[in-house]
Amino acid sequence: MRALFLENPGIAPSLKVKEIPIPSPSTGEVLVRVAACGFCHHDRLVMAGVLKRGVKPGVILGHEISGEVASIGEGVSQLSVGDKVVSLLTYSCGQCDRCQQGREHRCRYGEGIGHSRNGGFAEYVVLSQHSLVRIRSDADLVEACIFSCPMGVALQGVQDVANLQKGETMLVTGAGGGLGVHAVQFGVTLGAPVIAVTSSPGKVSRLEELGASYVLEALVATQDQSDVLDFSELALALTEDEGVNVALDTVGSILFPSTLGSMAQYGRMVLLGEVTGQPVELNLAEIIFRDARIVGSSGTSRRLVEQVSEMVCSGAVRPIISHVIPLADATVAFELVSSRNPFGRVVITAR
Ligand SMILES: [Zn+2]
Ligand SMILES: [Zn+2]
Repeated sequence: MRALFLENPGIAPSLKVKEIPIPSPSTGEVLVRVAACGFCHHDRLVMAGVLKRGVKPGVILGHEISGEVASIGEGVSQLSVGDKVVSLLTYSCGQCDRCQQGREHRCRYGEGIGHSRNGGFAEYVVLSQHSLVRIRSDADLVEACIFSCPMGVALQGVQDVANLQKGETMLVTGAGGGLGVHAVQFGVTLGAPVIAVTSSPGKVSRLEELGASYVLEALVATQDQSDVLDFSELALALTEDEGVNVALDTVGSILFPSTLGSMAQYGRMVLLGEVTGQPVELNLAEIIFRDARIVGSSGTSRRLVEQVSEMVCSGAVRPIISHVIPLADATVAFELVSSRNPFGRVVITAR
């Protein structure tokens, strides 16, 4: 089979497609014929040489996998050949307390797919049956690769962690990115007026089409962060000086002062992404006297991926894919993701 290998990380990484044997599933494992695999910022960071910790040398990257079950190992009871599946982000054991509680993505013995074990930038991948979610047979397999990350990740943040209620206002930063475009849609579906913040003027009308009530072009992102504009005054003005009930943040420290300043009394800030990795300055009184909650959220569960699959098939939300690129052109995908210009996700197809 053909698989993508990172030969040399860097600003212009060397990526090579090589022919290797198709792996065989062991007990409890499934061979998946990959249809598509989303290109996450996580993959970009590994390729750029920024993220190294826990990355197995020579690993096949890609954790946003969709495909069909090609064959099953002994003891596989939950999936059959031909089933359409998507991967969770973690290779899970199925036995530990967390797996038993439906939190396979937080398996105590879990390994990161496309990180510490081979992922989906290939024609086939072997995963445990507990790491896979069967999706509806009428689901589009290319769209389905983003059901876990970023769609399930965004849904977990908006619905389970922020506990967004109908009629509450939600602000989404990085609204034009893979997490943002889906967070906006989940907010709208839950009945919230959504304020979308984007750095790209070209994404404004697209975000309005997704149902955002207001789109703020409030950030001019530059390398030295000198032109970051404070959007909190605008957020307050749009909410009759109340502030937003929920701030769903996919950008992190660079926007933190503005995001915090936008929050209402009893507001919840959910942190889903950190782009620059810088520390933030924080006056704790700003949290105390707002009765605010600032919480992190990562990954997504089987239950949420199934919910995403249902929501997509019923037309409640739309997977936003900007480009579908063949494995051989992975360098083009790297450049696109690095530019932060795509609206939604760039995905790779193995064939
Ligand atoms: Zn991802
Ligand atoms: Zn487990």
